[in-house]
Amino acid sequence: MVIQSMTNTDTRDVEATVRQILTLEDAGCQVIRSAVVDEEAAAALEAIVRRIHIPMVADIHFDYRLALKSMESGVQGIRINPGNIGGIRKLRQVVELAQERNIPIRVGVNGGSLEKEILHKHGGPTPEALVESAMGHVSLMEELGYGNLKISIKSSNVPTFLKANRLLAKVCDYPIHLGVTEAGVGQNAVIKSALGIGTLLAEGIGDTIRVSLTGDPLEEVRVARSILDFLELSEKPGPELISCPTCGRTEIDLEHLARSVEKMLEKVDRPIRVAVMGCPVNGPGEAREADLGLAGGKGQGLIFKKGQIVSKVPEEELLSAFARELEEYIRELEQEV
Ligand code: SF4
Repeated sequence: MVIQSMTNTDTRDVEATVRQILTLEDAGCQVIRSAVVDEEAAAALEAIVRRIHIPMVADIHFDYRLALKSMESGVQGIRINPGNIGGIRKLRQVVELAQERNIPIRVGVNGGSLEKEILHKHGGPTPEALVESAMGHVSLMEELGYGNLKISIKSSNVPTFLKANRLLAKVCDYPIHLGVTEAGVGQNAVIKSALGIGTLLAEGIGDTIRVSLTGDPLEEVRVARSILDFLELSEKPGPELISCPTCGRTEIDLEHLARSVEKMLEKVDRPIRVAVMGCPVNGPGEAREADLGLAGGKGQGLIFKKGQIVSKVPEEELLSAFARELEEYIRELEQEV
């Protein structure tokens, strides 16, 4: 399962774009897409591609020359809407160069780009309308003899997104790129993406994913990683934090403890399970599946490993003692390899 994100820098600004892509690579991004708005942006891709380590997909609208120029700049993929690239003759030129260079083409459809006739026939951007439009584009590409395709159907409405992609998976064998488009900001956007993308992945639908959030793409990559981690689909799973919801037995600032431990785990790249529990009586038992954990008590806390208590420390030393235990546990894991 491949995580994709999209730069939000001006692609013509090579330095800023490369800087952002390198940060996204570090966070786990595996394919990057950049908007190509003009000739200068298409030309800039050459310098960008040379300095990054993940495949670049050029995102093109309307102008077939930008697709040609981007491919000449060495991108590893292009995303177009075959219906708006300027007609069959121009589309053929794009396909011929893609064929020559073995470059996959992602055919993207979303509610806002549907053909008038299809919208009219279905009475709006329904799942069936989205699939009909996508399959029309696929047929067009196949008629031109091109089959190195990826398909994406995007919608900002979760039920429409789910239904459209389920229908698509039934009628085509091409790889499917998943993304709930224009998901919004903050928590709601994360929930929308997790529901849309996560549900389909759990059903075995989807080959690449992009979480779209308004703002820093770094957050998109983090959310995408979490979706894959929690579904156990990550190629390189990271740590998992479990924390109890607190209840009348909690006598410690558990939210602070959980957030601090979450911060410590940002630097960990191993699939360990860490629990932060609110009471010393039930905590270690409830978090039996955790590799490592802490349980708060009144003025003190317990640190436990694989369900067994390893130390009891005053509340003010709990986080530093836990950090040491975490480091030691990671060292032990490294020695095992
Ligand atoms: Fe309550 Fe303790 Fe369970 Fe947390 S671990 S929910 S404090 S019983």
